[in-house]
Amino acid sequence: MKNEVDILLDLVAIPSVSALSNRPVIDYALDYLDNSVWHTELFEYRDGTGEEKANLVAMSRARGMLWRESELALVCHTDTVPFDPAWQDAVNPEVRNGDLFGRGSCDVKGFLACILASVSQMDMTRLRKPLAIVLTADEEIGCIGAKYLAGKARFRSRFAIVGEPTGLHAVRAGKGYALGEIIVSGKEAHSAFPDRGRSAIRDAARVIDGLDRVARKLSARKNRNFDPAYTTLNVGVIQGGTAKNIIPGECRLTVEWRPIPGQDPKWAAELIEAELRLLARRFPGLRARFNVKRMDPAFEPSATDDLAKLVQSITRRRPTTVSFGTEAPHMAKLADEVIVCGPGNMGTAHTNSERVPIAELSKCVSLLKLVIERLCE
Ligand SMILES: [Zn+2]
Repeated sequence: MKNEVDILLDLVAIPSVSALSNRPVIDYALDYLDNSVWHTELFEYRDGTGEEKANLVAMSRARGMLWRESELALVCHTDTVPFDPAWQDAVNPEVRNGDLFGRGSCDVKGFLACILASVSQMDMTRLRKPLAIVLTADEEIGCIGAKYLAGKARFRSRFAIVGEPTGLHAVRAGKGYALGEIIVSGKEAHSAFPDRGRSAIRDAARVIDGLDRVARKLSARKNRNFDPAYTTLNVGVIQGGTAKNIIPGECRLTVEWRPIPGQDPKWAAELIEAELRLLARRFPGLRARFNVKRMDPAFEPSATDDLAKLVQSITRRRPTTVSFGTEAPHMAKLADEVIVCGPGNMGTAHTNSERVPIAELSKCVSLLKLVIERLCE
């Protein structure tokens, strides 16, 4: 029987960036789930480029019966973000100085390795209440698998743990995630004759200044459970112009914001719309339109905190909140109490030195075994 470190070495070596099919990771997990104990169901779809994607729901057969509702669901995404081609060891994982390095080691194959290790070390036939393992596709490109699964909603769970690197803190709330594009239109002209055109890049600079005003308004409304305590806003991508000697005719800005719980994510979009109207009045001829591309709600804390307290009593780490997006708001449609918890530090995820401490992996296995025993036995 492999331990969590050996399983994680296997998992990191399976490339599973979101652009690829996640079937190899799902198949690896299926090999661990004994048919006599687990009832498994796949929820498959094809992504925009035709790649086969699968969500897996595995339900333990408590008391030999087939269930639709679990007491506890362990939820984990199977895809990773892309990696720099210069990082040659991204899918050649290695253990160095107590950490396991590789793409996905902390986000979030480490948690998956802990799930597979813990269930393979336990006698599942002893469980009186069912345990579910839920593996999802395409989390890193917009929680597409989790949304697909929540739409199918063929099962429910009383409790759910969504794996993400939280240093084994139980996370009870998280910010939402919203994304939009601003398209600034100008008029192309030979750059020797600027008066014959209108620079979309110059107007985009005015729009960016306007977004600063929006960000200040957002920062005035606080939720002290978060750091930063307000809805943040970022212009992450700017694209405009065609050549050095052409007055640019178009400039596109990608804007994201992360709404705090308790705040309608539409509010920031309304502020942006209002700002664009103001700019159009202040700078006659400025033309900018705004398209919202995504608006995922915040992860609101559950009414109960039984699971968060149970995890805290085992790890001695206090419950907290996170500012990054997770599948938790989607899973909240399928479970009564959801927390986010897992080994590793999100600060190293999505970087060229992604890693997870080996010691935290083994703590996570002990934690999962205790939580399963406490809730399902
Ligand atoms: Zn993740």
